[in-house]
Amino acid sequence: MTYRQPAQIDDRTRAERLTRRFTELYGHPPHGVWRAPGRVNLIGEHTDYNDGFVLPFAIDRAAMVAVRLKQSSDSAAHSADLASSYAPDGGLAKVSFTIAELAPGSVDGWGAYPAGVVHVLAGLDGIDVPGFEVLLDSTVPVGAGLSSSHAVEVATIVALNDLLGLGLSHPDLARLTQRAENEFVGAPTGIMDQSASLMGRAGGALFLDCRTLESEIVPLPLAEHGLSVLVIDTKVAHSHADGGYAARRASCERAATTLGVTSLRDLSATADDAAPAPFLDALDVETARRVRHVQTENRRVLETVERLRHGDLNGVGKLLTESHVSLREDYQVSCFELDLAVASALNAGALGARMTGGGFGGSAIALVHAVQLGQIRDAVLSAFTAHELQTPDIFTVLPADGAERITGSSELSVG
Ligand code: ADP
Ligand code: MG
Repeated sequence: MTYRQPAQIDDRTRAERLTRRFTELYGHPPHGVWRAPGRVNLIGEHTDYNDGFVLPFAIDRAAMVAVRLKQSSDSAAHSADLASSYAPDGGLAKVSFTIAELAPGSVDGWGAYPAGVVHVLAGLDGIDVPGFEVLLDSTVPVGAGLSSSHAVEVATIVALNDLLGLGLSHPDLARLTQRAENEFVGAPTGIMDQSASLMGRAGGALFLDCRTLESEIVPLPLAEHGLSVLVIDTKVAHSHADGGYAARRASCERAATTLGVTSLRDLSATADDAAPAPFLDALDVETARRVRHVQTENRRVLETVERLRHGDLNGVGKLLTESHVSLREDYQVSCFELDLAVASALNAGALGARMTGGGFGGSAIALVHAVQLGQIRDAVLSAFTAHELQTPDIFTVLPADGAERITGSSELSVG
């Protein structure tokens, strides 16, 4: 069976629709529309909070916000995402807040993402953030491990950066959204997701050093090689995901202290699979495996970058699969559904496959020959049916540009 992906509407048309809807909702037009994509992490999982290397790419699914600044300090935000369950009436999910009264825990649900960004910006010296109106609409699936939450945060922060003329750089914006997520939303996430959403480029992956935030776009010439990246959203979110993530982070921090390094990134240079480094004796068996994952994963990222530079996409596929094995065996953040997605895609001919994102559910990716998309998709679907599991969502993604303004002039009439 040939595989056909549903057509997506282009950014301009989406922005025009959002502008019309904003105008109906608030009674005046927005000052502009911005878009910020979700991301797929090609490789480099659980390395970001260890100050290591990652290689994500921004995808062709994005959050879009229409924004208008106000003269008063009260703000309102509506999510127009009708396809989502978090708008219980099937309509707009509304939140409102007053900037001066924002504090961690003061805004529940999805509003914590835009509010968190504003709270962090308003806390910076010399920055006065007025109230604003937002209408949000996103094509990034929620909870699939493609970072729909960072898409919302990044869209909000780039809009405010532009409208308020703050002139903050991409690394600044990445660190601020990380603070919003860590301090306001309360999720202990790293720096990768928002960096990809901010700095991604069409046709490339973002090779990011999470310690320095130095980055480089590495070409990811999928079409030239007749390849596609398939996302398999298992639609499962295991309840221990948050606890599991926090436990892995804590274990890495403890290991770094025991080993006398600032972060596990500092061990990477000595990584050697064949002969485990003697310092690992200082750790218990479980912690040593966690450390080994971080070491080998950092090395795999560097190797993937090399392979991409040489146009060796087969080699990239192998590294993806090795990453999955390491995440399953050493880091132990996979689950039955992710393993099944990876195994069935590989059996059906994928060049490589791995879980992507934090794990314990969410999505897997597979690097596949475009001509085999249909057969691989069918194989994965049959495997899930045979195990009486929920039908996964399967779609391709392309490396897309990072966050940008779509419409709106810089001539503002604030009101
Ligand atoms: P993900 O892996 O998709 O980032 P998270 O649990 O981190 O999963 O973030 C999902 C949350 O982000 C949602 O529960 C919601 O609060 C917020 N969110 C994402 N997209 C939207 C949207 N279109 N409208 C409102 N909130 C959204
Ligand atoms: Mg998220």
